[in-house]
Amino acid sequence: MSTAENQALLTDVEAYCQEVRPHEEICYLEHRFNAEAIELAKKYRLFGMFTAKEYGGRGCDLTTYIKALIRIGREGTGLRTLFSGHISIGQMPIIEWGNAEQKKRYLSAAASGEKIMAFGLTEPDAGSNPLELTTTYRREGDCFLLNGVKYLISNGGIAGAIIVFAYPEGRKDRMSAFIVDTRGPGFECEDLTAKLGLPTSNTALFELSNYAVPAGNLLGEEGNGFRIAMNTLISGRLSVAAGCVGVIEDCLIEAINYAKERHQHGKPIAKHQLVQEHIAMIECGRQASESLLASAVAAKDASRSDPKDAALRERADLLAAHAKFFASNAACEAADRAVQVLGGRGYSELYRPGRHWKDVRVCRIYEGTDEILKLKIATSLLGKEYAAFR
Ligand SMILES: Cc1cc2nc3c(=O)[nH]c(=O)nc-3n(C[C@H](O)[C@H](O)[C@H](O)COP(=O)(O)OP(=O)(O)OC[C@H]3O[C@@H](n4cnc5c(N)ncnc54)[C@H](O)[C@@H]3O)c2cc1C
Repeated sequence: MSTAENQALLTDVEAYCQEVRPHEEICYLEHRFNAEAIELAKKYRLFGMFTAKEYGGRGCDLTTYIKALIRIGREGTGLRTLFSGHISIGQMPIIEWGNAEQKKRYLSAAASGEKIMAFGLTEPDAGSNPLELTTTYRREGDCFLLNGVKYLISNGGIAGAIIVFAYPEGRKDRMSAFIVDTRGPGFECEDLTAKLGLPTSNTALFELSNYAVPAGNLLGEEGNGFRIAMNTLISGRLSVAAGCVGVIEDCLIEAINYAKERHQHGKPIAKHQLVQEHIAMIECGRQASESLLASAVAAKDASRSDPKDAALRERADLLAAHAKFFASNAACEAADRAVQVLGGRGYSELYRPGRHWKDVRVCRIYEGTDEILKLKIATSLLGKEYAAFR
C-alpha cells in the first residue's frame, strides 16, 4: 500500500470515528451493543484495513493499522475491542498461518464484514495458563468433532467464525487451532452482559458439543496451536497498547478542555497547580506509552519479515509485553486523573473520562494479565532458569 493509500485509510478512520461517536454514546448510556459500529465500519471499509488487497482488504502497513487503532481507541475501549477481536486476534492467525484456500474463504468474508471474527482461547478453568484448557477434538471422517466451552470471548456472540484451540481427545499435549464457523447444530452461545464496563462491546461464552468442523479448517499444522496462540497474542497486545494510547489521548483532551472552562476560586481550574499536575502526569504516560508502542511495532514488523527467526519473534513478544503492560496501566491512571479533573461530573457515564475509567480496566486483564506480563519481562532479565512458571 502506498503512503497516499495509508493516509487515505487514516482519513476514513477519522470520518468513521466522528460518525460512530454519537451512536457509541447512546449505546453506552443504554448499556447495549453498538450494532451501528459494524455497519459504519463496512461503509468505510475498515474491517479489511489490514487484510491484503487480493482478499478485498486495503492492505495497510502495521504502523498505519496501529495508528488507526489509536484513533479508534479514543472513541472507547469497547469500540477498539471490536477491531482487535476481528482483526488483531481474529484475522491475524489466518493471515500468518492460513493456507491459500482458508485465506480466500475467511479473509474475504472478514474484510467485507460479512463474517465477524473472534479468538477463542480462554475457558472457565483455563485463563492465564492456556495449557490447562479442556476443549478437545477427534477426527471423524472428513471432520473434526470439537467439545468444550470457551469463555469471555470478545465478539463471540456476533462472530461468523472463531479461531478455537483444542487438545486431541485423551491427550493433553500439542493443542491445535481450528477455524470454526458458528451457528451450526452443536454450537450454543450466550452473551455475557454483567461486565464492569464495555457495554457496547460483545463478550460471550460458547459451547461446542460434538461440533463438526471440516478437516480443511485445521489452521496450520496439527499440534501447532500453542505457537499460533502465543504468536497471535503479540498482535493482540499491540492492539491493546494502541487502544490505550488512544484512551490516554482522549483523557488528555477532555481534561484540558474542562480545566480551561471550569472556574473555581475565581479562576479556571487549569490555573490551579494541582490540576496542572494531573495534566502533566497524563501527558507523561502518553509519551512513554507511545514510545514503547513504537518500539514494539518495529520489533513485530522485523519479526514478520522473517517469521522463522526465533530471536526476532522473542523480541517482538517481549516488547509487546512491555508496551501492553505499561500503556494499560498508564491509561487506567489517565482515566482516573481525568475523572478527578472533572470532579463530580467525572463520576458519571455522561462524560467520557468516567466511561474510559470503567472500560479501560479490562486492558490490565485480557490478552495477558499485568502479572503474566511482568513475569515475562522479569524472566527476560533473569534468564529462563528463573521462569516463575513454564
Ligand atoms: C471483557 C473481556 C474480553 C475478553 N476477550 C477474550 C477473547 O477475545 N479471547 C480469549 O481467549 N479470552 C478473552 N478474555 C479472557 C482473558 O484473556 C482472561 O480473562 C485472562 O487471560 C485472565 O484469565 P482468567 O480470567 O482465567 O484469570 P486467571 O488466570 O484465573 O488469573 C486470576 C489472577 O491470578 C493471576 N495469576 C494467574 N497465574 C499466575 C501466575 N503464574 N503468577 C502470578 N499471578 C498469576 C492473574 O494475573 C490474575 O490476577 C477476555 C476477558 C474479558 C474480561
